[in-house]
Amino acid sequence: MNCREHSKLVLDALDHPLSPQDQARADEHLADCSFCQGAYRQFTIMQREIKRFFSGDVAEKEGNS
Ligand SMILES: [Zn+2]
Repeated sequence: MNCREHSKLVLDALDHPLSPQDQARADEHLADCSFCQGAYRQFTIMQREIKRFFSGDVAEKEGNS
């Protein structure tokens, strides 16, 4: 697996859970690749911020109707 394949799997994982095989391959690459470790860390932080954004003030102001 290269970095491009790894980033594709990370994005795929947003839509559907990875197969155990893909997950294992992704983890293997991540363990070896400092570039993807940094990218993945940024990505998970960003995801958390996005979730907080949509579950926080904005959702309350927009209402639930
Ligand atoms: Zn990589």
